[in-house]
Amino acid sequence: MQKYYYIYTYGCQMNVHESEKIAGMLEDRGYIRTDEVEKADIIVFNTCCIRESAEQKIMGNIGAVKPIKKVKKDLIVAVCGCMSQQADMASILRKKFPFIDIVFGANNVEFFGEYLDEFLKQKKFCNKVIQDKNYMESATKMHFVRDNSLYAYVNIMYGCNNFCTYCIVPYVRGREISRAPKTIYREVKNLIDMGYKVITLLGQNVNSYGRDGSTGGVTFPKLLDNIANLQGDFELRFMTSHPKDLSDELIEVMAKNPKISKTLHLPVQAGSNKILKAMNRSYDRESYLNLIRKIKEAMPDITLSTDIIVGFPGETEEDYLLTEQLVKEVQYHNAFIFMYSRRRGTIADKLENQVPISIKRERIHRLLAIEHEISTKLFEKMIGSTQRVLIDGENNLFYLAKAQCGKVVKIAKSTVTKLNIGKFIDCEITDYKNGNLIGRTK
Ligand code: SF4
Repeated sequence: MQKYYYIYTYGCQMNVHESEKIAGMLEDRGYIRTDEVEKADIIVFNTCCIRESAEQKIMGNIGAVKPIKKVKKDLIVAVCGCMSQQADMASILRKKFPFIDIVFGANNVEFFGEYLDEFLKQKKFCNKVIQDKNYMESATKMHFVRDNSLYAYVNIMYGCNNFCTYCIVPYVRGREISRAPKTIYREVKNLIDMGYKVITLLGQNVNSYGRDGSTGGVTFPKLLDNIANLQGDFELRFMTSHPKDLSDELIEVMAKNPKISKTLHLPVQAGSNKILKAMNRSYDRESYLNLIRKIKEAMPDITLSTDIIVGFPGETEEDYLLTEQLVKEVQYHNAFIFMYSRRRGTIADKLENQVPISIKRERIHRLLAIEHEISTKLFEKMIGSTQRVLIDGENNLFYLAKAQCGKVVKIAKSTVTKLNIGKFIDCEITDYKNGNLIGRTK
């Protein structure tokens, strides 16, 4: 009888990509994806623990499976990812939800297939959380079920050594470990041969790729340069970059290579040196702005995006205003702005000078309004420019494309004969409306 699977994915691109691996292992075992959770024979929760509110939502969703499991006794429930990686979480989860069958962590996703086989044989709760990730190469042999046939993620490293005081990632994902360059080249080459057009290299801090000494001296700029020199019609992106590790060499490689997107996500988090220090970000406002200046000099058309936290413990009105000023100075096309939220197990959670929620709300609204005005002006400035875009969809009225900065570009079908999905074209931007660019073919 046909078996079905359903995966809940929470959190960042790393998790999205790990769910693609999980789907591959399930399809290798004959399962088919379903969009109806009630129809599933196995439900996997690939979790995130970056915010406590996310954790509560996940707990609620796991709890909602109980009535399904009551009716469908053979349903298998697995929980994995960052939340389950935390110390003692496997037993907490099992106690709260005795119907969970398998728990494994973010460090050993690649072995899920084996855990499932073991559970099916023994029908006994499987707790497979391991603390250290000490293997790498298996990922290249994995079968991924990617949601999209044009855009693909490739992990180049795992973990993080930075210990920003608000972040739980280094505690759950462990220290940085880089994949061997040759396995990354092979994986990217396969993707290009399969017709993928936009390859995004992933890591918590891609700029420190190779610093664990495992890549034979290949640094991130070198890796990027080598990949960009592979044959084929594709575009290369990467995330996330830590400002303290972004080198002049990387700027040079980005600037000279047309296959590397002229777009950069560079989280600043705050504009006040006092707050940056309290966050343990290891750079200051001046060095960040200096970096931005060098990037803009080398690539005048670059589109920049960032992450910002408002209301970090101890943030005064003056500190907040420094963030506002920095946002105005840098001119980001996009900013992901969050209110600081406490996270158990982090240093910032223990700080006493927490900012009241009403002030956090007021600051986020002010900053969002400023950023909205800036980004609208920047996108309006693109009107009249020519952008290389990837046609990636269509509806009745429009061909849909993506610019390098990730913005949707709509091209009216009435203005062209036919455009092929999966092709890069040069497109003239004619308008900016409702958050989308409007274009026409050149
Ligand atoms: S760089 Fe900082 S924010 Fe990013 S994953 Fe590492 S500790 Fe977390």
